[in-house]
Amino acid sequence: MTLDELWRAALGDIELSISKANFVTWFKNTTIVSLENDHVVVGVPNGFAKEWLENKYHGYILKALRAMRPEVRGMSCVVYSPAPTKDVHYKPIDAAIATSARAHTPIMAPRTTPTPQSETNINPRYTFESFVVGEYNELAKAACLAVCESPGHIYNPLFIYGGVGLGKTHLLQAIGNAVHIAYPEKKIRYTSSERFTTELIEAIKSHRTDAFKSAYQKIDLLLIDDIQFLSGKEKTQQEFFHIFNVLYQLNKQVVMSSDRPPKAIATLEDRLRSRFEGGMIVDIGKPDMETRIAILQLKLREKNFALSDESLRFIAENITHNVRELEGALNRVVAACELSNISSPSIEQLQQILGDLLASGKRHIVHGKHVLNVISEFYEINSEELVSRGRKKEIVRPRQIAMYLLRTELNISYPGIGGYFGGRDHTTALHAYEKINKELEQNERLREEISLLKEKIYVL
Ligand code: ADP
Ligand code: MG
Repeated sequence: MTLDELWRAALGDIELSISKANFVTWFKNTTIVSLENDHVVVGVPNGFAKEWLENKYHGYILKALRAMRPEVRGMSCVVYSPAPTKDVHYKPIDAAIATSARAHTPIMAPRTTPTPQSETNINPRYTFESFVVGEYNELAKAACLAVCESPGHIYNPLFIYGGVGLGKTHLLQAIGNAVHIAYPEKKIRYTSSERFTTELIEAIKSHRTDAFKSAYQKIDLLLIDDIQFLSGKEKTQQEFFHIFNVLYQLNKQVVMSSDRPPKAIATLEDRLRSRFEGGMIVDIGKPDMETRIAILQLKLREKNFALSDESLRFIAENITHNVRELEGALNRVVAACELSNISSPSIEQLQQILGDLLASGKRHIVHGKHVLNVISEFYEINSEELVSRGRKKEIVRPRQIAMYLLRTELNISYPGIGGYFGGRDHTTALHAYEKINKELEQNERLREEISLLKEKIYVL
């Protein structure tokens, strides 16, 4: 069986176990890059897919692969971007990620960086040195540094919250790296709450819950990312609460991140919430212009590439949403310059390279269409049908979600939204907004769906 056949078979399996929309979103344009030392490296189109595949679908992927190759032990992803010519299939964008956790050798990596340690899940690339500080995140960084100085004693637990792509994972990982250097004997573990849940479910299935818990209870520093995904998972919350309490009583340090503050996480058990609130809570806002430029400068140094101040300013002025987007835009520029051998792109060239990312000024027009495109692609429906008056159930729902997102994300007026849908009356848009908004309170799946869509809207 070739790698290609193996992946195709695994995809067939995965397709049956997750929703179609998610399957298309996350598994389109993926491939197996290598299988070495029982570790599979999957090539994905962007950093975002990498994160989701590694965190959310890790279990599904391993299960599907093991059905055919039982010896497979691990899986990680690497970011690839399709090259413009036909004879070269892919070009690695981010060599830092193009490394295999197991093989300890970079795969097709022109710029090499150390590999993540498989046991702790800490990636040496995320450090405090490579983290740019501005007013928007200085408190968060200071709290993280304080934790590193005396883990378990102040700010326990530390809870960091902020929107997507603003550096939460980076900070958690940086704590892991710094503590590892200062206290090599300490047991450190980074995990996402999704991964925690998957592991727990696997442990329950194989009657190994006690082993699972005692492994966690030996940890000195537990870094748990994206805690909002615990929302609604009662069993997982209970187990987490138990582990958390044991660690807390032993003065072990716990650091968590979330996209919102504890009180805004729906269905978080009260005792868990009050524990979280008993520690230190810091938020990360959005980087200002100067910080965005500083971030671009740092990333350029890391890539060993130079761009003029004017180019940097142009990128920073236009890509304002979050750091991940900023980094994605820069990657795109560097890759395009390298491919076409340009050392100093003009503003016109930058405009062309960044194309759809440059929405400022005409945000509504450009982004409104973009939102509709994301929705049609996600639900696999024809974009004309989406804005039509057809009443098919498969269309009506995505249409309501589209109206909701146009309102919440772009702040478009209800009559304005009606305009996108063949001049419908504003009450239709209002009704759609209210319906989805209300349903969000109850419906966890819808919440996840919407947050997936938002991420697709904002991430490259
Ligand atoms: P989050 O976990 O909040 O969604 P990440 O920590 O994954 O965001 O950050 C997204 C990307 O942006 C990462 O590659 C990270 O290294 C980078 N990044 C975020 N904030 C900063 C910063 N202040 N300085 C340097 N890089 C940053
Ligand atoms: Mg993160």
